[in-house]
Parts: sequence; structure tokens; C-alpha cells
Amino acid sequence: MHSLLKRQITRYLAGFDRIEELQQLLSAVSDAYGQNEQELEILENSLFVTSKELNERNDTLKQQVEELASIQQQLQQSVAMLKATFDATGEYILVFDNEGNLINQNQMGQALIDTLAQKDEKPWHAISGQLSYPEKLRSMASSLKNDPLQDLEGHLEFKDGRILEYHSSAQKQLDKLVGRVWCLRDVTEHKKNEELIQYQAFHDALTALPNRHLLIDRLNHAIQLCHRNNKQLAVMFIDLDNFKKVNDSEGHEEGDRVLIEVAQRLRNTLREQDTLSRHGGDEFVLIIEDVRHQADLAQLAQKLCDVIAQPITLKGRKHYISSSIGISNYPSDDADPKALIRKADMAMYRAKKQGKNTYHFFSSDLESRALYQLEMERELHLAIEEEQLAVYFQPKISLDTNEIYSAEALVRWIDKQGRVIAPDQFIPLAEQSNLINKIGHYVFDKVCKALSDWNLAGYRHICIAVNLSPREFMDTELLTRIQSCLEKHCIEPSQIILEVTESLFLEDKKQVSRIMQQIREMGIRFALDDFGSGYASFDSLQSLPFDYLKVDKRFLKEVTENPKNAAIARSIIQVGKNLELSVIAEGIEDEPALEFVKKQGADIAQGFYFHKPLPTNEFEVLIK
Ligand code: C2E
Ligand code: MG
Ligand code: MG
Repeated sequence: MHSLLKRQITRYLAGFDRIEELQQLLSAVSDAYGQNEQELEILENSLFVTSKELNERNDTLKQQVEELASIQQQLQQSVAMLKATFDATGEYILVFDNEGNLINQNQMGQALIDTLAQKDEKPWHAISGQLSYPEKLRSMASSLKNDPLQDLEGHLEFKDGRILEYHSSAQKQLDKLVGRVWCLRDVTEHKKNEELIQYQAFHDALTALPNRHLLIDRLNHAIQLCHRNNKQLAVMFIDLDNFKKVNDSEGHEEGDRVLIEVAQRLRNTLREQDTLSRHGGDEFVLIIEDVRHQADLAQLAQKLCDVIAQPITLKGRKHYISSSIGISNYPSDDADPKALIRKADMAMYRAKKQGKNTYHFFSSDLESRALYQLEMERELHLAIEEEQLAVYFQPKISLDTNEIYSAEALVRWIDKQGRVIAPDQFIPLAEQSNLINKIGHYVFDKVCKALSDWNLAGYRHICIAVNLSPREFMDTELLTRIQSCLEKHCIEPSQIILEVTESLFLEDKKQVSRIMQQIREMGIRFALDDFGSGYASFDSLQSLPFDYLKVDKRFLKEVTENPKNAAIARSIIQVGKNLELSVIAEGIEDEPALEFVKKQGADIAQGFYFHKPLPTNEFEVLIK
């Protein structure tokens, strides 16, 4: 019997087990109790299982919620990072849908739109309204219509000077075109710097004129244009004549001011379409387009010469600058830009030789002469190396004693074929380069060597005059060279006379005077050669330490038949005498000329009438 039922019956029905009839009922009730208890147990069991499952499910859910929260946080961080990156690109980023509506932008993009667009104004409309060339946007739009997937890049120039560089590409989602992303970057500063660098590469810093690179470029274009239109152009090469003097005496700053002033004057004289460039130093090159007649060019060149020759006043002082101009023509002289400039340069050189402050047109004859000179220069180099130069001596006769007073050393070039080339044919060429210093040194050494031989041989001590070009005279090593040569051959300075011409006075006067004094103090004397043919002033004559004055031989030519020459020669001799200089008459070819100079009071004479310049051995015989 069920234990609970047994306890209840024991309590309420004492002696129930004796009641037979109740036994059956009690057994049934006891079964029901037992069954009930079993069901309860099952129910309890199942409740336990369910609750356990629920707890487990709850735990899983909790975990999932936590994971979700973490993912959400990560996502928020990524989005924030993306946005920060989007904002930090330094670019204006704008994203438009296919209809052209702005659907996304970074901070800078928003700021750009804010500055450009009025309220409710469409961004593209606003941008287009502020562009210098709005048609650019229109053509872009039509190009995108044809090919919406293409990438675009370029520059947008705004009316306020801003320049934005853009790159734009199609935006796709799952292979479907959804819009377009525009990245724009402000490159205004960059472009300005680029332009500045470009400008500096093609312009002269001092005058702001195009430099030679830009000149070549423009000349190239101009030639092509002329070729197409069957027209002519000219190149003018301008070189200032005495600019070096200003630079040396007044300093480079003053020289710069002169160049700026000259550039300004040239600019004011030329037409707008003509190109004026600074080629370097004191050289300017012009391109004159659309030339009709040579006469127009000549007129223009003369005008430019005149304009430059007007005195330039700086710091209250007037500078007198002149210019030499060479002109070459397209197509008659050449079709190559560099060759045209070179030929104009060549013609300029000719203008300089013609006495400066003038112009000269290029001619093929000039070119062949230049080529000849080039060849000559090359050969002269060789001649010096191979000792093909010889020194001749021309006696000078004292008009008091009729004896040889001294001699002038005159260089000769004896080429491989034994031909004697006169100095007039190579000295001017050598003067254009450092060659003249080499020649001068060579001659001086040969003269000292000859003097040393004659001194040792016991011939009477004779003086030798050596010619010195301005370039040699201004050479910084002149003094030491003279000194060491004299020492090397043990020669007294009083045995040397240096002949300089009036062209020396074109150099810096103070410097000339200083060098002359130094040489004079050594005991070497000076003669002013070819007087009357150049630029000497009486001031230079009396302020510089000359001992001799040589009358230029051209005035003694046919002096008895040519009254003008006679008048000049007479005056020159008189000037020399008044300044207490010994007067030397050179180029005496005949008796009447000799009589004339004697009568006028010249002290010394030199000329073919007495002797031609003689090789060393012949001269030696003479003085023995
Ligand atoms: P220069 O110094 O005036 O020399 C005098 C020139 O006149 C010489 O010409 C001489 O031969 C020439 N001569 C002399 N007597 C007569 C004459 O009676 N009639 C004529 N028609 N001519 C006469 P050369 O030797 O041809 O020299 C020419 C110039 O070359 C010289 O003129 C001088 O300026 C220059 N030269 C010569 N040798 C040298 C040198 O070693 N160094 C430099 N720097 N120049 C030199
Ligand atoms: Mg001379
Ligand atoms: Mg002379």
C-alpha cells in the first residue's frame, strides 16, 4: 500500500485491515496514489529538462548579443575611420548619382560646394558658373553621354584664379553604373610655381627678356610661319661696343643698369610682334618678322644704333654706349635658326671692324672669310707650337748722326712652304683671342735672346722696340712676364722700348696709366705708335709717360705732293716737339720725304728708304 495512504488510514480508520471489504478500495486508491506520484515525477523531470534547455538557449543568445554589439562597435569604428580617411585625402570628393544629384561628399567637398553654390543651387550649375571656360564642362558631359564608364582627368580654371585638378571615374555596384566619383585637388600654388620655373628657364633674370632658349624656339616658329606664308624675316645681332669699359670702371651694378636701360630703349623702338632677347653679356638678338625690303631693315638698324648711342645718365653721370649690329635674313641666308643667329653674329663682327656704331648685312663672302679666319687661326696655333714665327728688325736712323739709333722688332710668319706672311694678315686675327699673348711672349723672348747674343758679342748696346697690342698690355701677367724674360737673358730694361697704339686708350684709362707707370719705373720706355690714326687725345699724350711719338706712315706717303698730308705731318711733329717727345717718322720711302721730316724737326726716321725689316742675321751684319 502507498505509504501516504497507509499513514492516513492508520490515523483515521483504526483496525482497517480487519475490514475485509475495504481492502479492494484501498488497493485501488493506493494504485492511484502511486500512479499519481509517478506522473508527478515524470512532469518534474520534463520541467527540469526544459528549464535546462532554456538556460542554455539564453546563454547562447546572450553571447550572440555580445558578439553583435562588438561587431557593431567595430563597424562604427570602420565607418568613422573611412570617413576620416575620406576627409583627410586633401581632395574635394563629390559623388553624384546618374541623374547628377550630389549624394555624398567629404568635408572639403562640402566646403567647396558651400563656397560656390547659393542655397538650393545645383552643385554642377554652381561650379560651371564660376569657371573661366565653362564650355569645358559641357564638352565633358557630352563625352560622358557617349561613354559613361570612361575615366576623366584634367584641370578646371576658376575665374578667381584657382586651378583644380580633377580625376573622375564611374561608380559601380554589382556591375551596375550607379553614379560618378569626382576627386578634385587645388593645384593653384603648384601651377604658379611651375609657371615661375618655366618662366625662369626661358627668360633673362636681369632684363626679363626671353633668353637664347626661348629665342631659338620663337625663331623656329617664326621660320615655319614664314615658310607657310611665303614671307621673309630677319635676325639682328646687337653687341654693345664699349660696355666692358662701363663694367670695369663703374662696377657690375652700374653695368646692369646700363643693360636694363638699353633693353628698355630697344623694346620701345621695336614693334609688338618683334622678339627681343638677351643672348648673354652685352648681346641682344632680335627677330624681325614680316620683312618686306632690305631698306626697311637698314633703316631700323640705324634707328637702333641711334637709340642706343643716346647718352645714358646714371648717378648724374653720362655714359656713351654704342652698338654694332649684324643682320641675317630668312630665307636668303639660311633656314636654320642657329645658323641665322651665327650669321647675324658674323655680320655684327664685320660692323665692329668697320668702326663700330654701325650695322652690316650678312653675305656669303663674309662666311667664307670667317671660315678662312678659322682655318688661319688653327694654323697659327700650330705655327706658334712649331716655331714658324720669326722676328725681323727694321733699323731706325738718328737724323742727327745718320747712324742706326735702334730697331723695331716686327714679327713674320714663315709657313711650311717658306712663304713669309706679313703681320697684318695674322696679328688682327690673333688679337681676337689669347693667341696674341702667346705671340707677344714669343717675340719678346726672341728679342731678349738676340739682344743678349749681341751684348755678349760686344756689339754696341742697341735698343729694340717691341710692339704691344692692347690685349697684351691689359694682360695681368704682362709685368711678371717682361721681368722674368729680362732676367732670364740678363737684359737692361733701358734696351727695350714698347710701342703701343692709340687703340690702347679705349681701355680703362686709370688702369692703363697705372701699368705704364709701373713699366716705366722699371726703366722701359714707351713710344706712341701710328699717331694720328686713332683715338689719342692730347690729354693722354701729356699725362702718360711716353718718350717717343711715331708719326703714322700714311701722312708721310707722297708728303711732298699731298699738301694735306704734309700739313698733318707737320702738325704732329710740332705737337711731339712741344711735348718734348722724340719724334720718329716711320714709312720714309724716299729722299723728299726724308728731307721734309728733317726740315720739320723729326729726330728719328724709319723706312724702306733706309732699310726694310731684316732677318736677324742680316741685321747683325749691319750693326757689327
Ligand atoms: P707698325 O708697328 O706701325 O710697324 C711698322 C710697319 O710699317 C711695319 O709693317 C713695317 O714693315 C712697315 N714699314 C716700315 N717702313 C715702311 C715704309 O717705308 N713703307 C711702308 N709702306 N711700310 C713701311 P709690318 O712689319 O707689316 O707690321 C705691321 C704692323 O703689325 C705693325 O705696324 C704692328 O702694328 C704689327 N706688328 C708687327 N709685329 C708685331 C708684334 O710682334 N706684336 C704686335 N702686337 N704687333 C706687331
Ligand atoms: Mg710699331
Ligand atoms: Mg707704326
